[in-house]
Amino acid sequence: MAHVAVFNFPAIGHVNPTLGVVAELVRRGHRVTCTATDYFVPAIRSAGAEPVRYASIFGEFYRSPYTAEALRNSALRSLDDAVLLVDAAEEFYRANRPDVILYDSISWAGRFYASKYGIPAIRLFPSYAFNECFSIQERFPLTTFDDDEVVTMLDRVEALLPEYGFEGRAMEFVRTVEKLAIVFMPREFHYAAETFDERFVFVGPCIRDRSAFQGVWRPSEHSTLLVSLGTAATGWPEFFPMALKAFGDVQVVLAVGDHMDVAELGRIPANVDVRRHVPQLDVLRHATAFVTHGGMNSAMEALYFGVPTVVIPQMNEQKATALRIEELGLGRHLAKADTTVTSLRASAAEISTNPEIAKNLAEVKNRIHETNGPITAAEAIEKHLSQARCDPPARVARPGDR
Ligand code: UDP
Repeated sequence: MAHVAVFNFPAIGHVNPTLGVVAELVRRGHRVTCTATDYFVPAIRSAGAEPVRYASIFGEFYRSPYTAEALRNSALRSLDDAVLLVDAAEEFYRANRPDVILYDSISWAGRFYASKYGIPAIRLFPSYAFNECFSIQERFPLTTFDDDEVVTMLDRVEALLPEYGFEGRAMEFVRTVEKLAIVFMPREFHYAAETFDERFVFVGPCIRDRSAFQGVWRPSEHSTLLVSLGTAATGWPEFFPMALKAFGDVQVVLAVGDHMDVAELGRIPANVDVRRHVPQLDVLRHATAFVTHGGMNSAMEALYFGVPTVVIPQMNEQKATALRIEELGLGRHLAKADTTVTSLRASAAEISTNPEIAKNLAEVKNRIHETNGPITAAEAIEKHLSQARCDPPARVARPGDR
């Protein structure tokens, strides 16, 4: 049996999709260790893995909303966090050498560590993957490779690479495609899916019961609408009051997150359940529609349960997802600028009753359940491990390297 180390990025939307795979690897007898800030320790333990604790420079990331202030210098801070995580985890992993490292696509710590010690690495994509000819960043850009912050970050990566045993330029490091990548969405959902070869295994959402650390939610006998902007809602204080006006006369769950003052909602009718966080999987299991910001987990969890979505994106990647959902006939895109009490009501009513959307959702849901993401991912990881055992040893960082 192998020791599988998972280098997570400490955000809910990055840790949640890995939990099903972690639990499946544990079930198959592997030792699984996962880097974690304190907040994620119960989730990691509930999946049967051992947490390797560290204190991220982001603190507990889920507490940071997507405001301009919170996002300032986030690329450079992510790099600093990766360096910090390598240092923090080194003592543990030197004494407990992993056979393979799974690293989140935006957390370079796992790659740095794997490169330094010549350990096989597998990349995890909780959102869109990239290859030699496709990147979601190029189609829906947030930054470009000539932005000042990105240029500074690439210079710093380049200066660090020799210490981590990587011979090459920063762009080669950034654009490396591993021999195996696990993508947590169905292949047909991905843009330019035909350009992704067998190095990419599309496992779909890897859902796993989260009641051990999230608690449970009891459904009412009425059909339920879920409204949530995810864990990092964006300083859009008008949204939930608007949702309350739009849906105040139906059975609705408003998961308002950590970043708004609930008192601003005023009087809450009995049919409206307002919480900061809900056990989202439990609610979706019983929901008839989901008004969401289009975080990839929320989008995938909705597909897993066959729930139609109105997607109101808050950032570019979510816009990509909103457009994809609309294009595939799985729900509707509603731009933030077009969101009103009337448009919210109309679009939620439309997706709940549209037979074409129901048919498309049923097909996608079936394929997701046939794929059984955790098993498909665990099999791919085990196959990769047995092939890696036959590969010649990789170059390991020399004495005097960092
Ligand atoms: N989530 C939850 N309860 C809430 C809000 C979110 O369980 O009240 C979970 C949700 O099921 C998903 C994750 O948090 O797994 C949010 O990830 P997503 O990619 O949708 O959005 P993000 O919060 O990263 O923007």
